[in-house]
Amino acid sequence: MTITNVAAPLITADAASLRHADAVIQSINLPSQGIAVQDPATAETIAHIPDAGVEAALEAVGKADAAGADWAKSSLRQRADVLHAWYDNLVAHTEDLAHLISREMGKPLAEARGEVKYGTDFVRWYAEEAVRPAGNFRDTPDGGASLLTRRSPVGLAVLITPWNFPLAMATRKIAPALAAGCPVVIKPATLTPLTTYFAVQLAIEAGVPEELIQVITTSNSGAFSEAVLLDPRVRKVSFTGSTPVGRRLLELASRNVLRSSMELGGNAPLIVFNDADLQRAVDGTFAAKLRNGGQSCIGANRIYVQDGIADDFTAALAERFAQVPVGNGLGQGTGLGALIDDRAVAQMHTYTNNAVTLGATLLTGGHGYDSAGNFFAPTVLDHVTEDSDVAKSEIFGPIAAIQRFTTETEAITRANATEFGLAGYVFTENLDRALNVADSLETGIVGINQGVPSNAGAPFGGIKQSGLGREGSSEGLEEYENIRFYNVARRATA
Ligand code: NAD
Repeated sequence: MTITNVAAPLITADAASLRHADAVIQSINLPSQGIAVQDPATAETIAHIPDAGVEAALEAVGKADAAGADWAKSSLRQRADVLHAWYDNLVAHTEDLAHLISREMGKPLAEARGEVKYGTDFVRWYAEEAVRPAGNFRDTPDGGASLLTRRSPVGLAVLITPWNFPLAMATRKIAPALAAGCPVVIKPATLTPLTTYFAVQLAIEAGVPEELIQVITTSNSGAFSEAVLLDPRVRKVSFTGSTPVGRRLLELASRNVLRSSMELGGNAPLIVFNDADLQRAVDGTFAAKLRNGGQSCIGANRIYVQDGIADDFTAALAERFAQVPVGNGLGQGTGLGALIDDRAVAQMHTYTNNAVTLGATLLTGGHGYDSAGNFFAPTVLDHVTEDSDVAKSEIFGPIAAIQRFTTETEAITRANATEFGLAGYVFTENLDRALNVADSLETGIVGINQGVPSNAGAPFGGIKQSGLGREGSSEGLEEYENIRFYNVARRATA
């Protein structure tokens, strides 16, 4: 493989959209110095954010803790009303949020709007869920007592989020924490912190008590977590990010036995059977792979296609990929935006070269662009071999890595041959096969004949080394609640 970069034209940003994004940045209360935030499509510095040390982080813990005392006592209706008001404010600022997400993270504006919809849905969901607390009342089986189970807020929650969905990863944690009655300290990734600052500003405008949500950004994440997770006022950590960082946070959480939720890395298998609807399978794979530029923890990573449909499927998928317009997320008609940083682009080159050297066929893409931004072409590799890096690692970029298989048993065995277990996908028109294969996949999430399974009403999360706990749905609220029971002795009255 020798192709590295091409000079092919990239779509440039629309001037009005850029002005819109920059006006939103101007409206956020940010310092003039600190950690530089760059636009991945242009490498331009677009803002500076505070670089908090340990002292500032602990001060934030103190403020959240103090504000949390009243919040824990607030009525469920009060919490719901505040969350509804935040939801309305976020929705009213949909275009602002979408432009901001696109500018700081690189995704196309249309996808950023999709993220705003998805991210705000969590706020609405938990506004609705807040007034329906779980709990029950039952008698002990042997009589003589009644059991009353109740929920209470788990306490101060530290939330650590990644860069790939700057709004949704934050709201998916903040909203259930507030609904349960917990104060929060949130640390967004320094690559995409602006959306969190803006969304929290909108929360305060909507009536969330000012100190209840503390945002901390730092260039020293290690020192932050070591100080904050060992602080006795903290009772919960919720993290979304890579498995190695998750392991480290679990070690720290073990010291004070913190309630821990971990949404970690994925390595999703996507299986296309001979009896799949070809168009549905291509559409679903396209979405599961290329959404967010492939930078999604549930992105289709290992694509297994059965021999009988493989030639038609790969040809159709490669044709779709080849037509995707690449460029600035704020450009007109961009289908694939910039990757998050230049390391991600270098990694895509390395993956492609490694796969082709080991026997894969490059059907489309496989190159970067002469640009200051971080662009890599939509890429399809067929006949990928099991020893290739793309078959073993989380790709996190726009490379579709296709392997072929013959039998259902073989597909399941290969799909499960990983320590990860976040998402999997099955394409078949046979209902029995769909459900049997879904049951056999060792993943927390299965997309059946579709490529975007996430939903605010679904309990998102992984098994094996992809994580602990769930986000979204009623299960996501439980992550921020203690379950307690009262055993009430009963005496018969006359
Ligand atoms: P990352 O683990 O490098 O960083 C995630 C966050 O953790 C960032 O805010 C980072 O600053 C912070 N961090 C890093 N080291 C830390 C430490 N020692 N203490 C405290 N915080 C620390 O991951 P990333 O590159 O930002 O995101 C990509 C990874 O996240 C992928 O593996 C992806 O699969 C995973 N992810 C998982 C989900 C999910 O729901 N399971 C969702 C999105 C992303």
